[in-house]
Amino acid sequence: MSFDLNPEQRAFRDVMRGFVDERVAPHAEYYDREQVFPQKSFDACVEMDLPSLGVPEAYGGAGADMITQAIMAEELARGCASTSVTMLISKLGMLPIINFASEEIKHQYLPRIAKGDIQASYCLSEADAGSDVAAMRCRAVRDGDDYILNGSKYWITNAGVSDTYTVFASTDPEARSHGITCFLVEKAWGLQFPKHEDKMGLRASPTGEVVLRDVRVPMSHRIGAEGEGFKIAMHTLDRSRPTIGAQAVGIAQASIDYAGSYMKGRKAFGAPIADLQGLRFMLADMAIRTEAARALVYRACATIDAGDPDNQLSYLGAAAKSFASDTAMSVAVDAVQLLGGYGFTKEFPVERFMRDAKITQIYEGTNQVQRVVVAKHLLK
Ligand SMILES: Cc1cc2nc3c(=O)[nH]c(=O)nc-3n(C[C@H](O)[C@H](O)[C@H](O)COP(=O)(O)OP(=O)(O)OC[C@H]3O[C@@H](n4cnc5c(N)ncnc54)[C@H](O)[C@@H]3O)c2cc1C
Repeated sequence: MSFDLNPEQRAFRDVMRGFVDERVAPHAEYYDREQVFPQKSFDACVEMDLPSLGVPEAYGGAGADMITQAIMAEELARGCASTSVTMLISKLGMLPIINFASEEIKHQYLPRIAKGDIQASYCLSEADAGSDVAAMRCRAVRDGDDYILNGSKYWITNAGVSDTYTVFASTDPEARSHGITCFLVEKAWGLQFPKHEDKMGLRASPTGEVVLRDVRVPMSHRIGAEGEGFKIAMHTLDRSRPTIGAQAVGIAQASIDYAGSYMKGRKAFGAPIADLQGLRFMLADMAIRTEAARALVYRACATIDAGDPDNQLSYLGAAAKSFASDTAMSVAVDAVQLLGGYGFTKEFPVERFMRDAKITQIYEGTNQVQRVVVAKHLLK
């Protein structure tokens, strides 16, 4: 395994850096303040063909390797964490389709996702079933050649914005996790979006409730077999968590970049605060932890690309996601500290980095749940 980027990955990273600095980062403060979907940044990403990266070539995508996809997530998050999740969420919604759907369904949806014409959401969580997925109450009942879905999904990224929703519902509540089934549901089939959250961070990424009331879903849109939904959900999260780690690395890098340049300009006691060894050590620790997080994220991504030969993906994905997000949180808090009182104001972006970092410790499984996964691997 190589421990550095190959020439194509490095070239892509450099292009992404310029693109984010010019077309994404300048809008981040506005979208965060107004708490609206980052449309201009999304459109720019579509112009750059970024939605195609995670879609296989056979279905109109670029079929990029996972490290390239992580570079995209990291660089976007360096400029705007909400824009980064907007790119990641369609991939999360589409992973069950890519890995478990029929050819007909793949050809029907994936090319449009790749073009950015439609977006996808992933509907696993419920108000009373987050970490404990098997407690879900959303029901799917067979009716001839269709299923009728009833229930409510909570915390859904891009609720109302997305055109398709990968919904997990129970076809056999007695069987708990073995009774969950996965469906692809179009927004137009009667989904309702009654509530959106007013969030601390990631404010330009809409998060809301998705309500299903007697929504009729054709059999063709069941993904995998009845009862296979839990396995599909976990298979999907294993392959997505490293990119949440990449998003966290991007937020950490933005914090380091901003705090470092501030330290050179800010004077105290007649000299730049960058001359103070205590602060230099803080910045150095921020960079060391971020570099280690990046390496772990790449390691997990490389394992996905290699087809998980040592059956370590759950473990590595959980380790990468939890380490990178814990790093992003502590690095962003330190960046606020390095700016002193100014860091605590909205005049400077580090408070946004701190608010955005927090979600990376929570979604796609909290960092406590990641440790459950890591320990399970170690003790099996
Ligand atoms: C902004 C945002 C976007 C989201 N987007 C999506 C989305 O698009 N799709 C989707 O399906 N979900 C989404 N989620 C939901 C997210 O994945 C859940 O919030 C998360 O899994 C935690 O579930 P919970 O909130 O119910 O917390 P709970 O499960 O109630 O956890 C509460 C606390 O208990 C701890 N805990 C729970 N179980 C254990 C355990 N076994 N061991 C140790 N500690 C434990 C948790 O770590 C946490 O500290 C999103 C959430 C947010 C906030």
